[in-house]
Amino acid sequence: MAGIVVVFDFDKTIIDVDSDNWVVDGLGATEEFERLLPTMPWNTLMDTMMGELHARGKSLADVAGVLRSAPLDPRVVAAIKACYGLGCDLRILSDANRFFIDTILDHHGLTDYFSEINTNPSAVDAATGRLRIAPYHDFHAGPHGCGLGICPPNMCKGQVLDRIRASAGAAGKRVIYLGDGRGDYCPSLRLGRDDFMMPRRGFPVWELICEDPSLLQAEVHPWADGAEMEETLLRLVGRVLLEERNLPPLDCKLESLPAVAVQDGMPMTLRIKN
Ligand SMILES: [Mg+2]
Repeated sequence: MAGIVVVFDFDKTIIDVDSDNWVVDGLGATEEFERLLPTMPWNTLMDTMMGELHARGKSLADVAGVLRSAPLDPRVVAAIKACYGLGCDLRILSDANRFFIDTILDHHGLTDYFSEINTNPSAVDAATGRLRIAPYHDFHAGPHGCGLGICPPNMCKGQVLDRIRASAGAAGKRVIYLGDGRGDYCPSLRLGRDDFMMPRRGFPVWELICEDPSLLQAEVHPWADGAEMEETLLRLVGRVLLEERNLPPLDCKLESLPAVAVQDGMPMTLRIKN
């Protein structure tokens, strides 16, 4: 197992759209969503929208069907499989919800690549079949206490990242964090100097980082699309693996190794000449 934890946001990072909007738009409830948006937190709104869709006769199978059509770049799939093959511990940290994420990962055969999914819990009401979506952090019981002023009331991803880093499986490992949204800014500030932040270029977290890059300790490596994500992520993983072996900086030959591993789908074996 490599000493690397890769933490992925989900919406607009693993999939190329926002799963909440994708479901609402796909099932024809955009107008109602936009009418209610100013009146309640996003997480509460999504639970409300699941009730609204249910009342309109849309079943859980309808919701799942729309989720399965969400676009996922094949280069992102390749990046996930390659990182796993190289021994990285992959986790998801998302403000979507468990049903949406499970449905999409299962559809693409990606479920087993992730050791943990941190997101808003969901449950199906046994009597009605209606999907319920609850907050990750129960803000009705009290605020999560993050003082940054950016995190939504139901989830401070920075606090979740701290918990991940302190967990038995991740302690002492280097983190590579990928995300696009405002909610991904708080964790980016908590990464250490040996970690890496991969913000999606041109998206809100990138704009926030650009306001004052000196606030981050981690190296910042932006990406714009699936191909650039794959290339950047595998380059960083390859670099950490070499550093773990106390090797000098990458030369061209060594840098090509992760790409070989992608094709083979096998863990990378470094052969070192002394
Ligand atoms: Mg996102």
